[in-house]
Amino acid sequence: MAESSGIIDTLINELCRLPGIGRRTAQKLAYFILNMPKDEALSMSAAIADVKERARFCKVCFNVTELDLCAICSDQSRDKTKICVVEEPGNISVVERCRSFTGQYHVLLGALSPVDGITPDRLKINELITRVKENAVEEVIIATNPNTKGEMTAQYVAGLLRPLDIMVTRIAYGLPMGGDIEFADEVTLGKSIEGRRRL
Ligand SMILES: [Zn+2]
Repeated sequence: MAESSGIIDTLINELCRLPGIGRRTAQKLAYFILNMPKDEALSMSAAIADVKERARFCKVCFNVTELDLCAICSDQSRDKTKICVVEEPGNISVVERCRSFTGQYHVLLGALSPVDGITPDRLKINELITRVKENAVEEVIIATNPNTKGEMTAQYVAGLLRPLDIMVTRIAYGLPMGGDIEFADEVTLGKSIEGRRRL
């Protein structure tokens, strides 16, 4: 390693922490930032600081919000009898974009993966069960990713919900197997929600 740990190297090292960013890309980005107008670069760093200082999880659904309740949970026009279960907060905006669903959400904050130590207690599964028990929920749509972990999670959650006498459905596979709903197009995801099936 060279001794050239100047300020630009510090930035490169920081950018390298991001997923999918190798050293070469980090270098390119660092020099891009160096040449950016100062106000643009500062507003970018302020956005990072803001998200770390002000963003938290909605106390009902675990979506990201700056308030106690997220915008969807506090929207009175949403159908409170239906809950769509997703793995990550980012999945909500994807489902929202396809406009097939007008209910509420529940974010598990991950998917089961026993080999990685992600056991049910590490996810917001108990919170989901309590929420369903304490509210007039009629249907839970499980929209975890159509891959091994997502499928395992769906089966586990469905097993806990089944005795509660509500409809439990899983989004249909218009989605590519082994994929991530984050990358699904709106039409495919919309079809998957329309074609959901009972578990
Ligand atoms: Zn919420």
